Amino acid sequence: MTRARPEILFPLFGEITGLPGLGAKTAQALEKVGITKPRDLLFTLPSNGIDRSRRGSINEVPLPGIVTVEVTVGGHRAPSARGRPYRVFVSDGATEFELVFFHPRIDWLQRMLPSGQRRLISGKVELFDGRAQMVHPDYILPPEEAGTLPDFEPVYPLTQGVTQRVMGKAAAAAVKLAPELPEWIDAELMRREGWPAWHDAVQAAHHPTSLAQVTATDPARKRLAYDELFAHQMTLALARAQNRKRKGRETRGSGALQAQARAALSFDLTGAQERAVAEIHSDMAAPHRMNRLLQGDVGSGKTAVALLAMLAAVEAGGQAALMAPTGILAQQHLESLEPLAEAAGVTLGLLTGRDKGGERAEKLAALSEGRTDILIGTHALFQQDVAFHDLRLAVIDEQHRFGVRQRMDLGAKGQAVDVLVMTATPIPRSLALTLYGDMELSVLDEKPPGRLPIDTVTVPSGRLDAVVERLRAAVAEGRRAYWVCPLVEESEVREATAAEERFKALRAALGEGVVGLVHGQMPPVQKDAAMADFTAGRTQVLVATTVIEVGVDVPEATIMVIEGAERFGLAQLHQLRGRVGRGQGKSTCLLLYSSPLTPGAEARLKIMRETEDGFRIAEEDLRLRGAGDLLGTAQSGLPDFRIADLERQADLMALAQRDARNALAADPTLESPRGEAIRTALYLMEADRAIRLLSVG
Ligand code: ADP
Ligand code: MG
Repeated sequence: MTRARPEILFPLFGEITGLPGLGAKTAQALEKVGITKPRDLLFTLPSNGIDRSRRGSINEVPLPGIVTVEVTVGGHRAPSARGRPYRVFVSDGATEFELVFFHPRIDWLQRMLPSGQRRLISGKVELFDGRAQMVHPDYILPPEEAGTLPDFEPVYPLTQGVTQRVMGKAAAAAVKLAPELPEWIDAELMRREGWPAWHDAVQAAHHPTSLAQVTATDPARKRLAYDELFAHQMTLALARAQNRKRKGRETRGSGALQAQARAALSFDLTGAQERAVAEIHSDMAAPHRMNRLLQGDVGSGKTAVALLAMLAAVEAGGQAALMAPTGILAQQHLESLEPLAEAAGVTLGLLTGRDKGGERAEKLAALSEGRTDILIGTHALFQQDVAFHDLRLAVIDEQHRFGVRQRMDLGAKGQAVDVLVMTATPIPRSLALTLYGDMELSVLDEKPPGRLPIDTVTVPSGRLDAVVERLRAAVAEGRRAYWVCPLVEESEVREATAAEERFKALRAALGEGVVGLVHGQMPPVQKDAAMADFTAGRTQVLVATTVIEVGVDVPEATIMVIEGAERFGLAQLHQLRGRVGRGQGKSTCLLLYSSPLTPGAEARLKIMRETEDGFRIAEEDLRLRGAGDLLGTAQSGLPDFRIADLERQADLMALAQRDARNALAADPTLESPRGEAIRTALYLMEADRAIRLLSVG
């Protein structure tokens, strides 16, 4: 059922220029920061506050400081020379001090501050040449108007062209328009948290009476933050419900092929892997479409889980696709899965952007005729003419490299395709909830046994020669190493050049045949050859750019050198380090850095030395960088919360998810009184996607 915006909200969605004291110019300035309606003003909360409670004298406040006192106006003194200020002498009874004005309109000053009269003034008092003075008071009021100045004044975040006073007035006017709304938050939760009703919360947040009330922990603010998170989680919950309603196919594997593949594996699955496999199989067997996220740190063994899921699709008579972010990774998946597929008697195919002409046509034919059981590839899988015989499961590896939206596109390649997304970048809980709240989650929180911790050391770049010496000794012992070259923002070409130079230098130092090179500017064939040489041990040192960041798996490699480590983000350093420590040997990671380090770089390197736990690193990264930066807001699909703080309110997000899912389970069409209230909240919060989902019902 389609419904329009509830009438009760109309005043909040009117023109902003209708508010008192708000002209076209201010409206224009506000529009630049996304404020176009009274509603937007409501959700722009004070970022600070000023204590303007009345004092007997400026002596009561440590200087410099903001003081509000009543004074008797004394004499005026015009400037003695150009560029000097105009002064007005005042006395608060205990102390005399000066009000100072630069370039004032004299007639205005004489009207505002007539000698001999009482005035309430408020502003910052400071000492200048030992004399107390207030430069350009914030307020000058006759005593009978003192009531218009609140004891505690909210301070709003400002944008160019809007003064504090205009903003304060506009916000106050918007607050007056705020109606009483029916409650959408779960009653028990409200009680437990001690949250005020929405209308009261808006009032309180815009009329704080102390600094405590402009902090995120204030109940009114927390409630308003929760509203944002709840609207977002409601959107995700609706999307999830929609998804689950879409008819899926019941894909039940016999287990026969999986048994053969398992027998060919050189290891037993970890408990976490077994759990994930079971969760995925049960989703696939259910009549709704699977939409599941498999989160696991680097090296946690996601590939094996994906294989067993794909084999179930093949056992059921269908096909599966595995999509990787780069050609190298697709190739590598093919190589690592090949022996297992062979053992199970399953046919693998590879399709990347490199496939052209007749060869490509033959691959597509094999696919559409069902001769290929599992297709591995890159973005190329999205291409229009790629048609499956019977695609039942799409696995998307290393999700963060693809846009969030793309996970749906691949699903459209078949009939009711089950989708499994695998991400190797651990995401802090709050972000996972924000981005994937519409998905089911499996977590590989256990590493395969026998992994030794990686020694991580930081080395100043001045000691590069010593590092090369160490590497020479390691190579002599038969060990294998990656050497990652510095990140050059926005220039793959310069990055490649740096890699080539390092390659030449290392080749000269370590010997001709020992060193290989791979970077993004090389022709694909050459890249593949370099990878193959290193994998097979024909080269022992691989100089590389960040192309090896994700997924590359050579268990024999035990040394990772990262040059210019201070330039990399934490997630990237963690991914790079995750390329070693995958086999039986003890691994080392050397982080080469150039001084001086920024405080941020120093913090990153310290965290890298301290922990290998991807989830902890992700939390620290979020703390250091903020959510938008962490994911790149533009393509992250991260909502733009005005009040809620993802970094600090993860618990609130978890609460919102539970509340939203429960509310929807209890009332799938949102027709109950609470359901109606939730609808109002969704309109109020401009949760457009939720509203669309509701109207398609
Ligand atoms: P990621 O989760 O980073 O994709 P992979 O699937 O590439 O991890 O696995 C990392 C390495 O661990 C591979 O060499 C793989 O063969 C190995 N591996 C996976 N699962 C296990 C296990 N249960 N026991 C031992 N080794 C495993
Ligand atoms: Mg992987």
